[in-house]
Amino acid sequence: MSTIAFIGVGNMGGPMARNLLKAEHAVTAFDLSASVLEPVLKAGAKKAATANEAVTDADIVVTMLPAGQHVRSVYLDNGILGAAKKGALLIDSSTIDIDSARIVHAAAEKAGFDFLDAPVSGGVGGAEAGTLTFMCGGSEKAFARGLPALEKMGKRIVLAGGAGAGQAAKICNNMLLAISMIGTCEAFVLAEKLGLDPQKLFDIASTSSGQCWSLTTYCPVPGPVPTSPSNRGYAGGFASALMLKDLKLAQAAAQSSGATTPLGAEATQLYSLLAAKGQGGLDFSGIIKMLRGEI
Ligand code: NAD
Repeated sequence: MSTIAFIGVGNMGGPMARNLLKAEHAVTAFDLSASVLEPVLKAGAKKAATANEAVTDADIVVTMLPAGQHVRSVYLDNGILGAAKKGALLIDSSTIDIDSARIVHAAAEKAGFDFLDAPVSGGVGGAEAGTLTFMCGGSEKAFARGLPALEKMGKRIVLAGGAGAGQAAKICNNMLLAISMIGTCEAFVLAEKLGLDPQKLFDIASTSSGQCWSLTTYCPVPGPVPTSPSNRGYAGGFASALMLKDLKLAQAAAQSSGATTPLGAEATQLYSLLAAKGQGGLDFSGIIKMLRGEI
C-alpha cells in the first residue's frame, strides 16, 4: 500500500484521510489546527510538524484546503514542490479558482511531478461514507496513478480533461445546480400564491419537462421528498455559504474567460443576499424562505 501525506484534515479532509487509513494506507497528516488532527491521529495517522515534513516520504500527496491562496502557499514558495519525494503523485482536492489550479499544475510539471486537480462533490456525508465524486484534471497517466487511492474515498472518479478541468467541471455543475434550485423554489413560491398544492406541482413537474435534481432529490418544500433538507428545517445538506463560494469562483472564471452567464450572476447575487442575512448555514434549498419573504 502506498504511503500518503494528507494536508488539511478539516470537515472533508478528516474523513477522507480516515478512509485511506481504513484501506490500510500509511497516512501522515498535517493541519494548522491541532483539534482537527486529533481524530485522524486516533485513527492511526502519523503526525507531521509541517506540510513539508509530511510529504518527505510520501508516494502520494493529497491536499484538502479552503481556497486557492492556501493551495498556492502550500505547494509553491519553498513548499511541497521542493520537499516531496521524486516521482510522487500530487492531488489537490480543494475547490479553488481555475487560475490557481493551473499555476500549481504548471509549477508541479516543471518540478517533474504528476499533478491532478481533483475537487469533489458529495459533502461531508459523502466524505464519511467514501462515496464522493472526484472530478479530475490532469494527464491520463496521473489519473491512472491516482485512481486506486481515490477509489478508497469516492464512488465516482472522472477524468474531465487537462489541467484545471476538474475545477471547471465542478463550478459549471454547481452554477447549474444553483440556477436550477432557484428556479425550482420560484415555481413553488408561485404555486403557493396561486393556491396550487405543492405535492400536485411536484407530482406533475417531476414527471414533466420541469424535472431536475433540485426538484426530485433536494425538493425545497417539505413532504414530496422525505430525505430532502427542507424536511429538517434546511439543516445539514449543502450549505448556502459553500454554494456562494462556488458561484463566486464560477463568476470569476466567466469574467476571465469572457463567458456570458447572466443567470449565474443573478444566482450569485441572491446567495450573497442570503449570506448577508446571516443564513449562510442553511442548506442551499433554504433560499426559498428568502423568496417567500420569510427572512
Ligand atoms: P475546512 O475549513 O473544514 O478544512 C480545511 C482545513 O485546512 C482546516 O482544518 C484548516 O486548518 C486547514 N488549513 C488551512 N490552511 C492550511 C495550511 N496552510 N496547512 C495545513 N492545513 C491548512 O474545510 P472543508 O469543509 O473540509 O473544505 C475543504 C475544501 O473542500 C474546500 O475547498 C471546500 O470548498 C471543498 N468542499 C467542501 C465541501 C463541504 O461540504 N464541506 C463539499 C465539497 C467541497
